Amino acid sequence: MIPFDFDYYKPDTLLEAIDLFQDLSEQGKMPMYYGGGTEIISMARANSIYTGAVIDIKGIPECCEFGFSGSNLVIGSAITLTKIVESGLFPMLGITIGRIADHTIQGKITLGGNLAGTVIYRESVLPLLISESQVVIAGNYGTRQAPISELFDGRMRREPGELIVKLIIDSTYTNLPFFHRKTTKIDKIDYPLVTVVAMKKDDRILAGFSGLCDHPFRSIEMEDSLNEKGLTREVRIKNAMSHIPAPVQEDIHGSGNYRRFVLNNILMDVLKM
Ligand SMILES: Cc1cc2nc3c(=O)[nH]c(=O)nc-3n(C[C@H](O)[C@H](O)[C@H](O)COP(=O)(O)OP(=O)(O)OC[C@H]3O[C@@H](n4cnc5c(N)ncnc54)[C@H](O)[C@@H]3O)c2cc1C
Repeated sequence: MIPFDFDYYKPDTLLEAIDLFQDLSEQGKMPMYYGGGTEIISMARANSIYTGAVIDIKGIPECCEFGFSGSNLVIGSAITLTKIVESGLFPMLGITIGRIADHTIQGKITLGGNLAGTVIYRESVLPLLISESQVVIAGNYGTRQAPISELFDGRMRREPGELIVKLIIDSTYTNLPFFHRKTTKIDKIDYPLVTVVAMKKDDRILAGFSGLCDHPFRSIEMEDSLNEKGLTREVRIKNAMSHIPAPVQEDIHGSGNYRRFVLNNILMDVLKM
């Protein structure tokens, strides 16, 4: 049971959502945007968060866009993981998010919720980082668009009240050869020990990582090492691993050394592929 009452709003427009957020904040309601609600509900039940009002974004047309538009694939932030997987429009993203939680919950979780949520893995960001996606964000100034690499530094950098509206992906990235591997401690459905998503573009390997450190990331230095073709695979991997940008996680899923061992093996498979 959720131990507090809260108001529920479902605006029809972006402007209404942004205005609501501001009004509710001024009333001290501590509003939250509501995508799939999986994290909000479970954290509210555990009394780890409090909100006096949620703003469901699933009635906002821009947040529900999904499909090719000109030379881009547009995915609204309210689109569920299931819808993305089943569409087959962006296989690398579909395979990656098809390993988040279980099939039932994937029908609730939204792309925006996975990117903005507090669970540190945010695996959906990996294909979006390496395909150099653009993010559209709305705030009380209107909307702005920026490369995801500028907005994401382990988590989405947003001002209070800013809403992730949609992701825009250059369609040339949607059917390039890719690699995905998610390793977990025991069960197939679990948080990642290490997840690697890689893609080959113009003869260069691009790669993103989750589970390895306390935030998901793409590292150009690691990519440069992996792409140093004059060296043996072993040396390329050793060099890449010397550029991991943050401490490797040590937790109940695995020690730092075990994660490094797993990463080494996955990177070997990336290079072989
Ligand atoms: C059983 C289970 C297993 C999981 N396993 C994994 C896993 O292996 N890997 C992984 O990466 N994740 C995993 N998750 C995390 C999960 O992906 C997130 O909890 C979930 O994505 C939240 O999505 P949601 O749409 O339900 O968000 P909500 O609960 O609606 O919102 C979560 C947060 O994001 C904010 N938010 C939502 N949408 C927007 C938006 N458009 N703009 C701005 N802010 C927004 C909300 O205000 C809230 O703070 C798991 C979750 C569960 C329940």
